[in-house]
Amino acid sequence: MTTIVAFHAHPDDEALLTGGTLARAAADGHRVVLVVATIGMRGVDASRRAELEASAEVLGVARVVHLGYADSGHGAVLYPDPPGLVRFVRASTDEAAARLMAILREEGASVLLSYDRNGGYGHRDHVKVHEVGKRAAELAGDVRLLEATIPRDAVARLIRIVRLARIPFRYDVDALLRAYSAKSEITHTFDVRRFARQKQAAIAAHSSQVKGDGRLAPLMRVITRLPAPLFGLVFAREWYVDATSRGSRS
Ligand SMILES: [Zn+2]
Repeated sequence: MTTIVAFHAHPDDEALLTGGTLARAAADGHRVVLVVATIGMRGVDASRRAELEASAEVLGVARVVHLGYADSGHGAVLYPDPPGLVRFVRASTDEAAARLMAILREEGASVLLSYDRNGGYGHRDHVKVHEVGKRAAELAGDVRLLEATIPRDAVARLIRIVRLARIPFRYDVDALLRAYSAKSEITHTFDVRRFARQKQAAIAAHSSQVKGDGRLAPLMRVITRLPAPLFGLVFAREWYVDATSRGSRS
């Protein structure tokens, strides 16, 4: 049995990016621990916390840890810190990494899931997850660091589907095509089709994000309404860049 720690920026990222991987690892008997940096713009929002717990349960996650930073937002403006809290992007990378490393040590984890160097689509909290994850893996020393990503050609395919289906999804095509990773950088492709139902249910558990007016909401509404076999086809794989050699291996 291996312990896997999945480090994420916001509630719903665990389901969208790594839901199949986490469900598959748990089904294979591994211990899966989820660490989430932020919950909401004003700190720990009770309903989003409950949604995250529901998603974690569907995926077979054994433990959820909240680092308690505030969401830094994705717009042009970086808002001031809420009273008594620090927006994740303003947190000390070394301090956050030390907290993550303490969890890795406590759990005897051998795998850390984090984000690629572009921070996926480039949300400032996702870039921060990459930096903190890399530093924590360096500090921990003997952890395999797998950075969740999507091949850019799959992103381009999804954009074509979004356009064809006329889903009102706001995005910057140029930015998206510079985001995530080139196919050649990807070292691990996991077939998670058998866990599609769990992944879809985990995404749906984040009902405030599905029903809300956030950027991803229209896309999430479509995703959660897809018939399960079609969802399984579209979301059959999850991808990682093994960053261990430039991370913790010395
Ligand atoms: Zn996120």
